[in-house]
Amino acid sequence: MSLADGPDDVVTARAPAKVNVHLAVGPLRSDGFHELQTVFLAVSLFDTVTARPGDGLSLTLAGEGAGGEVPVDRGNLVWRAAELLAEHAGVRPDAALAVEKSIPAAAGLAGGSADAAAALLALDALWGTRAGREDLTALAARLGSDVPFSLHGGVALGTGRGEMLSPVLARRPWHWVLGVAAEGLSTPSVYAELDRQRAAAPDQGIALGVPDAVVAALQGGPASALAAALRNDLQAAALSLRPALRRALRAASDAGAQAALVSGSGPTVAALASDGDHAIRLAATLAGAGVFRTVRVAHGPVPGARLVA
Ligand code: ATP
Repeated sequence: MSLADGPDDVVTARAPAKVNVHLAVGPLRSDGFHELQTVFLAVSLFDTVTARPGDGLSLTLAGEGAGGEVPVDRGNLVWRAAELLAEHAGVRPDAALAVEKSIPAAAGLAGGSADAAAALLALDALWGTRAGREDLTALAARLGSDVPFSLHGGVALGTGRGEMLSPVLARRPWHWVLGVAAEGLSTPSVYAELDRQRAAAPDQGIALGVPDAVVAALQGGPASALAAALRNDLQAAALSLRPALRRALRAASDAGAQAALVSGSGPTVAALASDGDHAIRLAATLAGAGVFRTVRVAHGPVPGARLVA
C-alpha cells in the first residue's frame, strides 16, 4: 500500500451526546413510535469509533458500558451501522471496529446513537463509499430516531419520531452538569410507562405545541429564560420508574442550578448552570451530594459526528 493510502488504514470519528431541552411526546402512532416535537442540543461528551481494515466485522468496546451492559455483537448499533452502510454501498462489511465510550449507556444521552453516527462516518471513509450527507442521514434514520441528530449536532428541532431535523440557532454556549445514575433506564420502558400513565388519565389532552419559548431562549435569552422554558414529557414516567430521581432533581435545585430536568428518557439529570464557572461549582457540590454515580460538566452546542485527524 502506498503512503498516500495510509490515512485510510485507520479512521477515527467522534460524535457527541445530546440533551433534549424540549421533549413533547404526542400520541402513539400506528408504527409503534410516538409523534415528537423535540429540541436537541449536542453537548461536549464524546464517544469515538475507530475503524481498521478487517476480515468480516469485529468489535471491541472500552469505557462506559464495557464488560456487559453494552453488547459487542450485532446488538450493538455500530455493528448494524456497518452492515447497513455496506449493504447500501454494495461492499463487503469488512472492518475491525473499536468503540471508546465516554457517554454513559442507557442514560438518555443518546450514546448508542452517537456511536452509530460515528461508525457511519468512519466506515464511509475507510471503505471509500462516499455515501454523501443525504444518504448517511437516511441510513442514520433507519438505525434509530436520534441517530440523524448525532450526525447533525448543534441544536435542532426534531419532528416525526425525532429523525426529521431543522436547525435552530443558538447564539451562545450553554453550560450543564450531567448527573449520571448508577443504573440505566431502557427507553422503551419509559415510553411504555408514559402510555400507561396516559391510559389511566384519559381526560388529560396530549398537546404537542410548538417550542417557541425554548427556541427564543436559545437564541439569546439569559439562562433563566432557558431554565423556565425546559420541558420533558418523559420526566414523570422516568420518575415513576425511578423514584430516587426526585431526590437527584431536588439536589440539583438545592445546589443552585438554574433548572434541572431528566435528560430524554433518563435517568441522567441535566442541570443548567449560569456559566462555565458556575457549572464547575455546581458539579463539585453535586459530586458531594451522593446521589449520582458520576457527575460531568458539559457545554453545547457542539458539532455533530466528525472525522478525527
Ligand atoms: P436515547 O437517549 O437515544 O434513548 P440512551 O442514551 O438512553 O439512548 P443508549 O446509551 O443509546 O441509551 O443505549 C441504550 C441501549 O442500547 C443499551 O442498553 C444497549 O443495550 C443498546 N446499545 C446498542 N449499541 C449501543 C452502543 N453502541 N452504546 C450504548 N448502548 C448500545
